[in-house]
Amino acid sequence: MQTTFTPEQLDDPATRESEKILRTCVHCGFCTATCPTYLLLGDELDSPRGRIYLIKDMLENSRPATPEVVKHIDRCLSCLSCMTTCPSGVHYMHLVDHARAYIEQTYERPKHDRALRALLARVLPHRNRLRLALLAAKVGKPFSGLFGAIPLAGDRLRAMLDLAPGQLQARSPIERPGVHPAQGARRGRVALLNGCAQPVLDPGINEATVRLLNRHGVEVVVPRGEGCCGALVHHMGQESQAHGFAKANIDAWTREIEGEGLDAIIITTSGCGTTIKDYGFMLREDSAYAEKARRVSELAKDVSEYLLTLDLAPRREADMTVAYHAACSIQHGQGIKDDPKLVLRRLGYTVKDIPEGHICCGSAGVYNILQPEIAGQLRERKVANIERVRGAQVLATGNIGCMTQIARGFRDRGSSLPIVHLAELADWATGGPMPRALEEAGFDERPMLEPVRVAAE
Ligand code: SF4
Ligand code: SF4
Repeated sequence: MQTTFTPEQLDDPATRESEKILRTCVHCGFCTATCPTYLLLGDELDSPRGRIYLIKDMLENSRPATPEVVKHIDRCLSCLSCMTTCPSGVHYMHLVDHARAYIEQTYERPKHDRALRALLARVLPHRNRLRLALLAAKVGKPFSGLFGAIPLAGDRLRAMLDLAPGQLQARSPIERPGVHPAQGARRGRVALLNGCAQPVLDPGINEATVRLLNRHGVEVVVPRGEGCCGALVHHMGQESQAHGFAKANIDAWTREIEGEGLDAIIITTSGCGTTIKDYGFMLREDSAYAEKARRVSELAKDVSEYLLTLDLAPRREADMTVAYHAACSIQHGQGIKDDPKLVLRRLGYTVKDIPEGHICCGSAGVYNILQPEIAGQLRERKVANIERVRGAQVLATGNIGCMTQIARGFRDRGSSLPIVHLAELADWATGGPMPRALEEAGFDERPMLEPVRVAAE
């Protein structure tokens, strides 16, 4: 695609990068076929190609964002399905991230929209504030219908209440900074990201991950000072806040890297993984952080990637059929297609793909709160596709956002299929306790495998 930026415009590093990306697009439109919003809305401006044109026009003319541009960019899930499909390697993620930051700087949103975004940005990335908000949501949940009737912001408030879990779980000791030693000889040392929402919504995921890694000889450190990866505010265009979160994490992990050393930074929420793997790009112009950020991004690993480097030892019968939901952030954001399924298969599970697996479930960070209607349609479509998987006894995935979104869809459809994180299934199959969701669904404990005996000579 030809561009007409002036040399002055290209002095800005973000515009320079976007111009490079724009030039790689050849308008072929292949990406429209796999874009969830184009699929649902059928409007070219709600397709990747249409959004690319809108962004090009806005940036080339150095024009403040218009309500029309904001509408179509806000509707984008940042699911990155278009990046997987694009034959020309257009880096849509960096382009839309720039557009969101540009919108934030040049467009004044209506008051109710600003208020909701400010609330989400101040609460969600902080575990203690989120806990308090969930307690309040528990009180408001029975009245979500009434909230829904509030003009302008009602549907979003209702979506927020409907997504909140009915029960708040106890704080896990894994949340505290500390070191969890390896069992037996130490074969590796990793940092584990606690982040923000996941330990509040489902602390069992990281508890299972620590047990699993320790059991396989890996020491796990939770460094002081780590927290939200910044993805939630990043996707709302709040660049400086996102960089603040990124720098806090980089500082925390750098102390470990330069201290006892780290083999990897393990991430159990793939949405966070996509962002942390991009820290090197996000902070490329920051002379104090560019190198440290690059090193952190290189060490960042989804838990499934790291598990495949270990000699996983099954200790329990895993005769169970698992429907595997690939979060967009793992398959499109990180380009990881098979690792989670390979982990489960190596441990004995039967793994089945979900039809239309490349289409987003509608979670997408805070998208399901900010765009509840489109998110609701995608959720229903995803749940209907999961129901088409024959013989599935459990749904496994690696992203808390998808787990929460799909759980809401299951509640609506009266489905009792338990939802677990793949690390919980891996922990269970290697000798850990049964995942809470399976216990609550009344599953029987599976027998332990006979230990392999080496015959005496
Ligand atoms: S598939 Fe790639 S090159 Fe083709 S229109 Fe979409 S973004 Fe542009
Ligand atoms: S990121 Fe997803 S929703 Fe946005 S344009 Fe690409 S495919 Fe469509």
